[in-house]
Amino acid sequence: MNDFVRKPFIAGNWKMNLDRKGALELAQELRERLGARTDVEVAIFPPAVYIDELARTLAGSPIRVGGQDCCEATSGAFTGETSAPMMVDAGAELVILGHSERRHVYGETDEQVGQKVRQALDAGLDVILCVGELLEERKAGETEGVVSRQLRIGLGSVTAEEMQRLVVAYEPVWAIGTGETATPEQAGAVHSYIRGLVEGLFDAPIARALRIQYGGSVNSGNVVELMAVQDVDGALVGGASLSAEKFIPIFEFDLS
Ligand code: PEP
Repeated sequence: MNDFVRKPFIAGNWKMNLDRKGALELAQELRERLGARTDVEVAIFPPAVYIDELARTLAGSPIRVGGQDCCEATSGAFTGETSAPMMVDAGAELVILGHSERRHVYGETDEQVGQKVRQALDAGLDVILCVGELLEERKAGETEGVVSRQLRIGLGSVTAEEMQRLVVAYEPVWAIGTGETATPEQAGAVHSYIRGLVEGLFDAPIARALRIQYGGSVNSGNVVELMAVQDVDGALVGGASLSAEKFIPIFEFDLS
């Protein structure tokens, strides 16, 4: 864990789960529990059709609402897609981009992710840019190469000033939804590599200020050991963000 210069950021990616009633109930429970706390940043990423109602439900609370993806174009013949300006219209403040399910289930390329980052920042959305290697890439010793390529292309158009609106999530694909978590040492090594890379792409103050979340089977039982790692500044949580019972202990992690 860092020295709190970088505020811890816990994000819940609901993926394609919950119905309208369940989403509203969960948002309200989180809101009540978080209260006016501002020492930790909490965001939820519901399915796109619920963004509007959840953003209105959570107005005035510190919980931020975001989208799980956006289109690389602003408008046009893109059946099924949602543009970044549309997300903003619906009340989203941020967006997850380059999630491994987008990259590996839907075949999104690094270049597309880079275009989406540009779209999102232009529309006024903050961005969580996900990077991470497949198991075979880790086994082949390619983790740093993969993360470096994803970051360089994903951040290709981002200015130094815009980096304040960007968070990186390191999500080893083999740890997502599998119950397998990277060890604190494995996470720490890649997080510090990412920070060094960003220092090379920008400068040391930008790298120091960048928040890097870990994602991959984070739960109440492992969040403390992960958050205790020097360069781990938060968590991107999938499965364990779908109930108040599981998500609240994660954002209430206690390092003392
Ligand atoms: C994710 O989808 O970003 C994720 C980390 O999922 P899970 O926590 O379920 O592994």
